[in-house]
Amino acid sequence: MPFSDFHGNQEVVRRLRDMLARNHFPQAIVLAGPPGCGKYTLSLMLAKAMNCLEAPLADGLPDFCGRCSNCVRLAQSEDLETRFAEAVEARENLRETDKKETRLFVQTHPDVLVIPPDPPQMMIKMDQVRRVIETIYYRPGEAKERVYIFTDSAFMKEAANSLLKVLEEPPEFATIFLLTENAGELLPTIRSRSMIVTLCALSRQEIEGYLVKQRSEWTPKQRALVARLCEGAIGRARSFDLVAYTAARAHALTILNSALRTHDHTELFKITETYRAGADGRDKIERLLNALYSVLQDLIYVSSKTPVLVRNTDIQNELQLLSESTDFAWITMAADRLAEVKRGMRRNLLRSLSLDAFATALERVQS
Ligand SMILES: [Zn+2]
Repeated sequence: MPFSDFHGNQEVVRRLRDMLARNHFPQAIVLAGPPGCGKYTLSLMLAKAMNCLEAPLADGLPDFCGRCSNCVRLAQSEDLETRFAEAVEARENLRETDKKETRLFVQTHPDVLVIPPDPPQMMIKMDQVRRVIETIYYRPGEAKERVYIFTDSAFMKEAANSLLKVLEEPPEFATIFLLTENAGELLPTIRSRSMIVTLCALSRQEIEGYLVKQRSEWTPKQRALVARLCEGAIGRARSFDLVAYTAARAHALTILNSALRTHDHTELFKITETYRAGADGRDKIERLLNALYSVLQDLIYVSSKTPVLVRNTDIQNELQLLSESTDFAWITMAADRLAEVKRGMRRNLLRSLSLDAFATALERVQS
């Protein structure tokens, strides 16, 4: 997957490749941008371009071949979610005492280390930065450049301070990527020692254009719906499960209908019964919460007479009916409760989400 496969932010990508070409690539770089804009994908592509054994050029700028041993091993880190889940599971299987001392990393190449936030707090911890310090001063063995990719900017205080020391004098053969949704979350002293590069969310048209190629089986109406729902995140568009979303949204509509219009909870209970605890159930609940959230947001747009912002454009009649039974205060309160449940789920990554939290949230809204 060469740079031509990266979607959006073409000017930024060209500038970064130009720095590579001129050997002026920064040793610490903050890639900032909204979720799904391609921060991680781009950092891995740059790591490949730095270390590709064939070092091809495209449009006169450095690219990567995708076939050499360095490219192939780095490609194994592309699916971050899966690699992360594997690392979590491997740690779960350790003895209790070892578990405490083991930090999470994703590493598919000896010279390139991906550092995700460590659960359950989902923060970058001291021991993770320690691993960076222990390895960064050794010349790379099989790559030209040692690369470290921090996938999140939530650092424990001690970890951030240690990273700062590395940034004061990084070795010439190492590059550190710091990925963040908001560069302001990083210590000012870390920011001042890094180059800050901002990626933008993609436009709806850019995402639709991407879907025309990737999801030719979808109708234009479906592509327009997904482009609206993804809100500029190409990463979400790539893996969007339209069937699952439509099913979750049908449940969300039933739940809102029963709360707002019919006041008959039989259907509601039939639905919540199908949501089980455990890993499978968690995905399903998350989809339901996301669907509920997007419908509630659309209800706000309908109520505030800005239908042009509505994303679920294919169910506008239903949204209109629902909005007639509710008001702004109810919708914002329901959205707040849902946000609470979602935050709780993120914190308890490894615990199976109890349906109780979800039901309670809705009940509090209904009362
Ligand atoms: Zn290569």
